[in-house]
Amino acid sequence: MKKMMNGIKKGFSKFIDGIKTRWQNADFSPKAFKTSVLKHKLSLFYLFLSLAVTLVTGIQYHRFRHTDPVFVTGPGVVDIQRLSDYYEPLEGTYGDADIYVLGTQNPDEPSILVLGGVHPNEPASQVAAVVLMENLIVEHGTVYIILETNRSAFSLSHPQEATPEWYSIETPFGERRFKYGSRGTNPVDQWPVPEVYIHQSGQTLSGVDTRNLNRAFPGTENGTYTELVAHAIAEFVRQKDIIITLDLHEASPEYAVNNALIYHEKVRATGLASRTYLNLELFWGIWDDRFAPIKLEISPRNLRGLTHRELGDYTNTLPFLAETSNASQGRIRGAMSESLIVDGYDKFYERATALGILEVDHSEAVPLDERVARHIQTFKELINAYNSLQGTWTGDLEYYSRGLFDIEYNDLNFTTVYDRGIGAFLLDPEDS
Ligand SMILES: [Zn+2]
Repeated sequence: MKKMMNGIKKGFSKFIDGIKTRWQNADFSPKAFKTSVLKHKLSLFYLFLSLAVTLVTGIQYHRFRHTDPVFVTGPGVVDIQRLSDYYEPLEGTYGDADIYVLGTQNPDEPSILVLGGVHPNEPASQVAAVVLMENLIVEHGTVYIILETNRSAFSLSHPQEATPEWYSIETPFGERRFKYGSRGTNPVDQWPVPEVYIHQSGQTLSGVDTRNLNRAFPGTENGTYTELVAHAIAEFVRQKDIIITLDLHEASPEYAVNNALIYHEKVRATGLASRTYLNLELFWGIWDDRFAPIKLEISPRNLRGLTHRELGDYTNTLPFLAETSNASQGRIRGAMSESLIVDGYDKFYERATALGILEVDHSEAVPLDERVARHIQTFKELINAYNSLQGTWTGDLEYYSRGLFDIEYNDLNFTTVYDRGIGAFLLDPEDS
């Protein structure tokens, strides 16, 4: 202890001596004075420069957060609800997303929830949900569609990845613009970000995953903002007694689970996953090999917080998650651009395909048209599978039998979207 005190004393007197020496040796000549003023000017310059950068980026950020893309309410939409209708604390917050309702809302008929934009940096997820919302007419059963599931994450982009804030889709009446958002909740809505994220199950992940909605399920009432949003969605699924949940995503091409349909193990007894898989194989079989592969994956029990795990464990719904391959999300891509998002060509992924290190084919462009078309066809085949199987279920599975979905698709399928482009299926905001 005494030694330590002596050390502190010694250090302090050394510090005082240093100041004394500097004062004694200080140069008060006019030349030295000039140099010091110049230094002063330089630091003022840097101060103003940083204030200017803050102002410009601040205005840009504010504009992005408060500008919404135009979604045109489709002719089949009978109601627009909000997450806060099912979990009130979200009311008035940025992440209180709209829920588009198409169909009868009769609880004795089948229901499906489509989640678009759980990850706003996966564009096919949101655009496929928009195309469904703007085109479907549901005569029997109910289709619920959320376009901005993690709405807060649509309020910031990835500036350090040089991602464009918006991308455009050509349509016969002009362009429709969509936001390329972030993977995680905006820190403005949820701060601070801890070093380690501890999921309510006890699972530990990197701190950034605290903001990842697809690691926050089933959510909790007294958690982070992201966990509140997850809780609201789970609450909606419980209150509406949703039979099927289809969560739409994209993955980087090097990710192993790609062009895949992932499902909770309780789906297995219904045969829905395998029938959907067969339907898709039969459908894509008419195309060349490039479109054929679809993988079925069962949700890992030890990977917590995902829709296909937690909505299956904590609600009655039968959860599915679909992935398409998105080069703009990948780690080995070249420069980020709007064209990479929409046209989907990247020379590094072409090379990676030639080297045989990818499980998906990026030898040619994989455009947004194709990725959205895949999601649309997956939705259709899941509905077809449900319609062809539900009468066969007995025992506990009878719970999932509520008659057939009757949906008019307005000519919407993989082939038409791929051939004519997404733009042919987007509505003109002027007509709404
Ligand atoms: Zn995702």
